[in-house]
Amino acid sequence: MTVYNLGSINIDNVYRVPHLPGPGETLASSDVTKGLGGKGANMSVAVQRAGSPCVHIGSVGEDGDWALDRLRASGVDTDHVHISQPTGHAIINVDDAGENAIVLYPGANRHVSMGSVQAALAEAKPGELFVTQNETNGQVEAAQLAKSKGLKVIYAAAPFSAEAVEAILPVTDMLVLNEVEAQQLTEALGKSLTELGLKDVIVTLGAKGCRWISGTESREFPAQKVTPVDTTGAGDTFTGYLIAGLDQGMSVDAAIELAGKAGAVMVTRLGAADVIPTKAEVDTAFP
Ligand code: ATP
Repeated sequence: MTVYNLGSINIDNVYRVPHLPGPGETLASSDVTKGLGGKGANMSVAVQRAGSPCVHIGSVGEDGDWALDRLRASGVDTDHVHISQPTGHAIINVDDAGENAIVLYPGANRHVSMGSVQAALAEAKPGELFVTQNETNGQVEAAQLAKSKGLKVIYAAAPFSAEAVEAILPVTDMLVLNEVEAQQLTEALGKSLTELGLKDVIVTLGAKGCRWISGTESREFPAQKVTPVDTTGAGDTFTGYLIAGLDQGMSVDAAIELAGKAGAVMVTRLGAADVIPTKAEVDTAFP
């Protein structure tokens, strides 16, 4: 089947600096790297590398060819990514102590047209999966449309916004969030996760693994043992693999097991979308 992902596409520019620049300071950087990022792009790449076809719905600018080429290189369908404002990008300064300071420009990610969503979902079939996060506009309308066409809606509540979650919950089938977001949600709504009325809620717990809450049942899944190098994109890799597992007909617990293995491989790598592991690499790491 096909997975449809309405999500952000960012270019991450990482500058190595001796210290983080202060007000009015001009600082030379000794090294710069450019990588594909954004929660949306990360998830599309993860879905595709896990072996499921992914249609990415989103927007970039005239300067977005590089990012689209990176998505296509992983096999992601970018036919429904349209041109609007300048491409979303992050300027990430990392100093010698590993401390960072980030400027994030959302740009085109906040200008996704409903026309692109409608065109992408025109061919979608009941039972297929639709995923979205909080780094674009249009999530609620898109999720409502997906739901009306019989797709299952999976929502990753990141970056957290109580308003966004409340608006999309009525059409959400599966909610994925990390421990901090889970706490923010329960505080904002004044309800426990079991009271949300969702069939599946998955809370990722970093090195502690994750918790699957289904109705009144709750089950813990321990993490794989690895030595982490960089946790960037672990959550997105986990969610992308979870979705691909479900798309490929796995039970929720089998898909969670697979996602946990992929997340564990991801934390041993430096970078974002470009270093998301393939299914073969995950299988080799954790047979
Ligand atoms: P990020 O925002 O850094 O992408 P997140 O906070 O959304 O991550 P986490 O809960 O940190 O998500 O990680 C997602 C999943 O990846 C975890 O549920 C776990 O399965 C796996 N994982 C993360 N960190 C580790 C680790 N140190 N060791 C093993 N597995 C890990």
